[in-house]
Parts: sequence; structure tokens; C-alpha cells
Amino acid sequence: MLGEAAQKVAQWVFGGTCFLCRGAAKKRLLCEACDADLPRLRQALCPRCALPSAGAEVCGQCLAHPPHFDAARAALAYRFPADVLLQAFKFRGELTLAGFFAALLVERLGAAPRADYLVPVPIAAARLRERGYNQALEIARQVARATGIRLAPGLCERVRDTPPQTDLPWSERAKNVRGAFRAPLALDGAAVAVLDDVMTTGATLGEIAATLKSAGAAHVSAWVVARTFPPAEDAR
Ligand SMILES: [Zn+2]
Ligand SMILES: [Zn+2]
Repeated sequence: MLGEAAQKVAQWVFGGTCFLCRGAAKKRLLCEACDADLPRLRQALCPRCALPSAGAEVCGQCLAHPPHFDAARAALAYRFPADVLLQAFKFRGELTLAGFFAALLVERLGAAPRADYLVPVPIAAARLRERGYNQALEIARQVARATGIRLAPGLCERVRDTPPQTDLPWSERAKNVRGAFRAPLALDGAAVAVLDDVMTTGATLGEIAATLKSAGAAHVSAWVVARTFPPAEDAR
């Protein structure tokens, strides 16, 4: 739980220094220069998969093979320094970054994002034990607070542990997560936003979207802090 009090603790812990360069940062985690360096996604993106697409039209890949989620929104490209911040958050327990990522995502979502429920991607039980927290849930708490959307982690459960997606080639990731989730409650036409820290192939978010839809969800959005671009796209 990271409310105003925790933000104050963060200011105290970081002592007014930038999380990245240790330069002066007034009231924020990053100094102005590092904040300006964040790879915010401002170019035209496909509304379905959040990869670059001319005129922000649905891209050819999504037309040919529509993902199970209906929309995707991402705040940042997954490259320096976003990758450094997300890795510190995920692997070094820098939980004060949750509010920072949530604010970037909320800024990206704009006015009145549409969803009845906000569901963080559940992590494997073994990883939860080892890490002590689910990074997606920590961000989702803050996004729920800022948007008023109901936080509903219970709508999606992980039914089996899978090897981490990052250990696998992209082509094997969809198979790795197939059947890994369960939606225990009827969703009766609800619009659900699924939140994760990083989207790479979209395999996990796609599998969860399919699971939620089979439980009756009418619309599923994928909301992520950062989007990995395929190598060719990353040069743009
Ligand atoms: Zn800085
Ligand atoms: Zn697309």
C-alpha cells in the first residue's frame, strides 16, 4: 500500500536526489533531465496492440491475427532508462516506484479510461514467495486509486506455474501460458482492464483476455507500463 505517506517516505529515502543520476530532483523520483529522457510513447500506435502503426490504425498483424484483448495502452517503450527503473522495481524491491509507474500509465490513459474492473496479472506462487510481492498488483492498486476503477485481483487466478516468459524464445511464449489462468467468477458483459508491468509478445495478456472472455467479459483492455518493440520497430 503506497499512499501519500509512502510518497513522503520516498522523498525522504531518496533525499531529493534523482533515482537515476543522483542529481537534484525536487519532490519527484527523477530530475527534469531524466524525466525528459523517459521513452514516452507519443508516436501513432495500433489501438489493439500498442505497436507503431501509421495513422494509429489497427495494424496489419492485428487485422490478420487479432489478439484476444480488444485494446492495448502502454506508457513507455521498454528501453533505457525505463528498463532500469522497471528492473529495480521488479527485482530489487524498489516498491516506491509503483506510484511513479501508475502516474505515467494514468497520464497515458487520458480522461475517463473505460473499465468496470482492474485485474493485475497474477504471478506464479513460487515467484510470489521468493519476491514477496506481485509487481503488477502494486501498480494496479495505485491506478485503481487514481481512476476510481474497482481493483479486482480475484477475477483471474493462476492455476499452474509456468517457466518465466523471459527465459523462452518469443515463438514459444503463447504455448507456455496456455491454460495457465482461470476466471472463477461470471463476468456478465463486464469491461475488464488487465494490468502488467511489461508487455513483450502479449502472450500472457492474450491468454488472460481469452480466459476472462470465456467467463463472459465483453471487452478486455491490456494496460502496461512499458511495451517491448520488435527489433525493427525499435529503431523508429
Ligand atoms: Zn536524473
Ligand atoms: Zn496491432
